[in-house]
Amino acid sequence: MALLQISEPGQSTAPHEHKLAVGMDLGTTNSLVATVRSGVADTLADEDGVHLLPSVVRYSANGDVTVGSNALSHATTDPLNTLASVKRLMGRSERDLTALEGYLPYKFTRHESNVPRIDTAGGAVTAVEVSAEILKHLRQRAELSLGGELVGVVITVPAYFDDAQRQATKDAATLAGLNVFRLLNEPTAAAVAYGLDQKAEGVTAIYDLGGGTFDISILKLTRGVFEVLSTGGDTALGGDDFDREIAVWLLKHAKVEIDAQAGQDHQLMRRVMKEARRVKEVLSTQQEAHISVRLNKADDFEITLSRNQFETLIEPHINKTIAWCRKALRESGVEPTDVENVVMVGGSTRTPYVREKVAEFFGKEPLTNIDPDKVVAVGAAQQADKLAGNNPDEEMLLLDVLPLSLGIETMGELVEKIIDRNTVIPVTRAQKFTTFKDGQTAMRVHVLQGEREKVSDCRSLATFDLTGIPPMVAGAAHIVVTFQVDADGLLSVSAEEESSGVNASVEVKPSYGLTDIEIETMLNDSFRHAKDDMQMRQLAEQQVEADRVLESLKSALAKDGELLSEDELAKIEQCKSILLAARQGDDSDAIKQAIQDLESDSEEFIARRMNRSVQQVMKGHRVEEFE
Ligand code: ADP
Ligand code: MG
Repeated sequence: MALLQISEPGQSTAPHEHKLAVGMDLGTTNSLVATVRSGVADTLADEDGVHLLPSVVRYSANGDVTVGSNALSHATTDPLNTLASVKRLMGRSERDLTALEGYLPYKFTRHESNVPRIDTAGGAVTAVEVSAEILKHLRQRAELSLGGELVGVVITVPAYFDDAQRQATKDAATLAGLNVFRLLNEPTAAAVAYGLDQKAEGVTAIYDLGGGTFDISILKLTRGVFEVLSTGGDTALGGDDFDREIAVWLLKHAKVEIDAQAGQDHQLMRRVMKEARRVKEVLSTQQEAHISVRLNKADDFEITLSRNQFETLIEPHINKTIAWCRKALRESGVEPTDVENVVMVGGSTRTPYVREKVAEFFGKEPLTNIDPDKVVAVGAAQQADKLAGNNPDEEMLLLDVLPLSLGIETMGELVEKIIDRNTVIPVTRAQKFTTFKDGQTAMRVHVLQGEREKVSDCRSLATFDLTGIPPMVAGAAHIVVTFQVDADGLLSVSAEEESSGVNASVEVKPSYGLTDIEIETMLNDSFRHAKDDMQMRQLAEQQVEADRVLESLKSALAKDGELLSEDELAKIEQCKSILLAARQGDDSDAIKQAIQDLESDSEEFIARRMNRSVQQVMKGHRVEEFE
């Protein structure tokens, strides 16, 4: 009989224990989670074998929160409570909303903290909370399939994300109960996935065409540091445009006039868009695709779209991306031929014509052997694995750079840069300032982010006051302002008057971001308010129902009132006034009861009206004709 072995307390049985760490790609359209197993990084699938998680969250009145394809299937039937593309709102203030409102059809509520909240049946939620639901879902998937708790994650963000957007992403991770090793730029992650960080140096272009966004990044690698030479792109350009082109083409050929606002056309448009997307994906591998879609009750409309025709339709959109590539190269001072590697990222780069045009522009074949919608998550997983300490032999750690310059406001509403963009992080820099007036005892430090000279052209991150400066003549005080940026690109600032040692500091939480306390309250509130919100919701629903019943009664009486005797009419009128009174109050049960009473009292009336209309239809016909 074999004896089972038990190790000594405190000693691990495995010589080198593998820690569970993952990379997460929190995308606008789709999100993914990946991990390294037996030295190979790959994405993790859900129980149905699906890797991509649609970045969609639905909030129902009963408090249910659904994530992914289960939520996506309600996008058209329940659009206001089914939230998609919230990545566009991360780190955005109320002020930023105006620019976004066009393509985010949600209802927003005002809030004192200046963080926009989206109104849903399940309560008002911030983009951070919505993203947290997506991350939580990915975390559960990872813990289920890896069989244990995660020690940490690497989450990817677009290279152009500013401090507020990065902070918002970290906040979402905190809400999801994740330990963030670090945030990593998406293009950097893609380059890592191809092992380009192992090379000595070189320029890489990362072309990322997703569902609704296009990003081009020019990276330069020098001694293990990826420097972002330039970024560019369009936040309203992607595979969705290809779908739309096919849909419009199809409707034109079917000679269907569409009024997208009209309710019944909504369902139709949904079917058409779904078919368009399917056809687009078929055309990535086939030369032609057969379209079949129900446009009216009678029959299906059928037509064939060839790859050539499709390419003509999408050419203008691809040309736009190429124009962005040209601009990004010009800004980075690099010639297309200097680019050593072109990496394809995003589901839409599976379209062969996109690859062709990109290859033509850069004069070389782009790298496509890693699945373009997985490549970012794969690179993030490799970084997470290293940061968890699973590769003790590998000491080279990838370093990132600051995406935007940081500085403070000086006299004349000008910005003095303290750390320039593209400085390798983590970094600490200090600069000396002095007072402007004789006897000045306080100083306001206004922290800004951006490349422009004027305060109004940069993004304000925070302000704080340094007080208690001993009165001196102007220019005599020496105030040292220190900026410290951690590995995630997040900043803290301190100021100190040298002679007196008076100091003040802030951890920069952008003025429109969330504080730790706010996040905690939000977590608690979400439990507490769930009940109130539900009651409010029920009341609103009953009020709407009451209005509907009253309105239809009114028109029925106007048309067929003479079918009632005086007594019957009086009784219905009485029920009606009870309902009207209840409708003014805030007791949803009372409204519900009054509706029921009115309905049961009008049953006879409804029956008579039905009879009458049946008789009218039947006039001059025999019953058999209708069978
Ligand atoms: P994001 O980064 O914005 O979250 P993805 O990288 O996941 O988005 O890309 C999603 C887009 O990729 C969608 O428009 C989808 O239709 C498109 N896509 C997915 N597979 C294919 C395919 N085989 N051919 C063409 N487009 C595809
Ligand atoms: Mg993406």
